[in-house]
Amino acid sequence: MLTITSEILIAYSQCHRKAYFLLFEKEQGITVEHIEILKKREKDHQQDGLNSIATSSSEITLTDVKQLKYLDACISKVNLIFDELQAECDLLCIEQLEEGNLDNLRYEPRIFTGTYSVTKEQKLNLLFIGYLLQKILKTPINKGKIITIYNRYHSVKLENNSKFIEPLINPLKEWVKTSPSEPPPVILNKHCPYCQFQVSCRNKAEQDDDLSLLASMTAKSWHKYHRRGIFTIQQLSYLYRAKRQSKNKKKTVSRHKPELQALSIRTGKIYLQDIPILVRQKVEIFLDIEGIPDQNFYYLIGLLILVRGQVSCFSFWADDLKEEEKIWFQLLEKINLYPESPIYHYGSYEPKALKKLAKRYSEEEHYNIIEKRLINVNHYIYGKIYFPVYSNSLKELGKYLGASWSDNLSSGLQSLVYRYRWEEHKNTKIQRILITYNREDCKALKVLTDFISSLQDIANTNDNIDFVDQPKQFYTKKRRVSS
Ligand code: SF4
Repeated sequence: MLTITSEILIAYSQCHRKAYFLLFEKEQGITVEHIEILKKREKDHQQDGLNSIATSSSEITLTDVKQLKYLDACISKVNLIFDELQAECDLLCIEQLEEGNLDNLRYEPRIFTGTYSVTKEQKLNLLFIGYLLQKILKTPINKGKIITIYNRYHSVKLENNSKFIEPLINPLKEWVKTSPSEPPPVILNKHCPYCQFQVSCRNKAEQDDDLSLLASMTAKSWHKYHRRGIFTIQQLSYLYRAKRQSKNKKKTVSRHKPELQALSIRTGKIYLQDIPILVRQKVEIFLDIEGIPDQNFYYLIGLLILVRGQVSCFSFWADDLKEEEKIWFQLLEKINLYPESPIYHYGSYEPKALKKLAKRYSEEEHYNIIEKRLINVNHYIYGKIYFPVYSNSLKELGKYLGASWSDNLSSGLQSLVYRYRWEEHKNTKIQRILITYNREDCKALKVLTDFISSLQDIANTNDNIDFVDQPKQFYTKKRRVSS
């Protein structure tokens, strides 16, 4: 009989297709280095943790409450099985609520992680363990613990576990019963970069010109378009109809339109909703920060400073959390040399990082001063400029405009892997690769900023650029008629 493990349950919560592959397919996809590193950390932490705790027994398979009659205190590595459901519990702690009364026991499952903070997948795993224990022991399981790195204990409520677990388990049980012959469709999502099936799914999506190739396409919108008979980016591109501009056009909030993104990909042109006005200064700063989200730690701050056309790059590196304060003050010192210059960044990551760093090491007013200088370049793009690429990430837009990254390092996730590798061996070559990667991000941001500010001059004459509501053909005709 097929078994529904915690891995499959967690996969189902991330992507139904992934759960299907894990349940029915032999092919296990590619190795995702980031995930492998975390698994190894988890195993090491579990090993160290279990070695330091006195346990009364170990490695048992628990299927019935009777097996626990004469056991007490703590059991390590408990394999829980109930019908077709299975989970591994690192530690099962048992407490007698009344001395000598074996009918009045409290059970608390605990798991070790390879992370510094608790993720929603780890919580789901513990809820599943609680659910199985409840079924096997026929007693409520009220709470459990997640033990993160440095042996930090996080209590998790496990009451009402069935409310979270059954909506995931029931469809999986149905699959086990009916063995569907086809996997659920590809809907690329935020979990894909972490998934072992990413190569085959991406290939399938590209082959099908699937809507989910567009990074802005949510699963909800994907289903909505499918109900309307729109399955491909090509089909989506024909949904856009240019509107004539009314003279009394009201200012509306910019909204990203997937049809326009699709049109841009089909025609290979850049579409402008408006020509963004980005006024440039004689001195400008381009900022990019690298961090480890799990540790809430920022380890590399990169600046590209442009003074009257002269470019200089600066990198502030922290070996560990203790050095984070040092790089924060190095940053302040540098940007305070040019108090009037704008600080360009891309997206919300940098402002959040600066706010946290200011809160940790400075007065809040430090951030308030910096905040006034921050310019998010993404604001000039979102809903205003459509490039013929699948996403508005700095990497995709940068590459489209000619920016490049060396060492095959082209995503935040890969940079995390490099940082983990550096932490293991303190290899200066890896450190250099990360500094170069961060510098190349700053350069790409400048390339993008230069392009946006050049639009005022080139938009009307460049054949690769068109206007959303007044395409050039129409624009020329109209001008000809009125002249
Ligand atoms: S790559 Fe993405 S779509 Fe494919 S199985 Fe994994 S998460 Fe699902």
